[in-house]
Amino acid sequence: MTSQEIENVFPLQRPAAVAMPREIPAEDWARYTGYVGEIFQALGMELDRPGTERTPERFLEALYEATSGYDGDPKLSTLFPAEARRRPESELAQIVEGPIAFHALCEHHALPFHGFAYVGYIARDSIIGISKLTRLVRLYARRFTVQERLAEQIADTLVELVDPHGVAVYLSAEHLCSHMRGVEEPSSTVTTGWRGAYRDADLRREFLDEARRSAKVGDR
Ligand code: ZN
Repeated sequence: MTSQEIENVFPLQRPAAVAMPREIPAEDWARYTGYVGEIFQALGMELDRPGTERTPERFLEALYEATSGYDGDPKLSTLFPAEARRRPESELAQIVEGPIAFHALCEHHALPFHGFAYVGYIARDSIIGISKLTRLVRLYARRFTVQERLAEQIADTLVELVDPHGVAVYLSAEHLCSHMRGVEEPSSTVTTGWRGAYRDADLRREFLDEARRSAKVGDR
């Protein structure tokens, strides 16, 4: 059976949050480019040099790409239950995936925060591959958001997608809005989200140990 056939045989209900494609008319886009140029010029940029004349347009394109999570991800609407039948004795074993790199924009300053996500879950009937988890993290990271909400959305959608016994999400990120403005000494911010079986402190500890074991997280 090919993976496409499996997807066709087991269509999952598409989580409400997964698909919201954006449409920006060309005339609006041109207007926005003008606004950005005006702002950049007022801030001091010389817009008539070869290196900068297309900067407002490139800036908007980059911003559009960085917020592509608002477009949804249709590939998240299907799963592969066939690869996922679990034996009863392994029922409470947790699966921990990561590090999954992500880049997001803080909704307070529209500046990037970036870091790594670790996702743990205890499967019931379905598992989800690392590539889909990466898609899930990026679906919500590529928006204007805050780190706390990001962890909650990843956890809730994973519950929706695979109906596991529990979900754990650990996010470690650096916020450029703090670093660039000199508000704080450079440091990482950690947020976590727990669902279901992870109300158990031992499971949470096991998950955090697993996540921290990775070199990317260091000793945090
Ligand atoms: Zn900020």
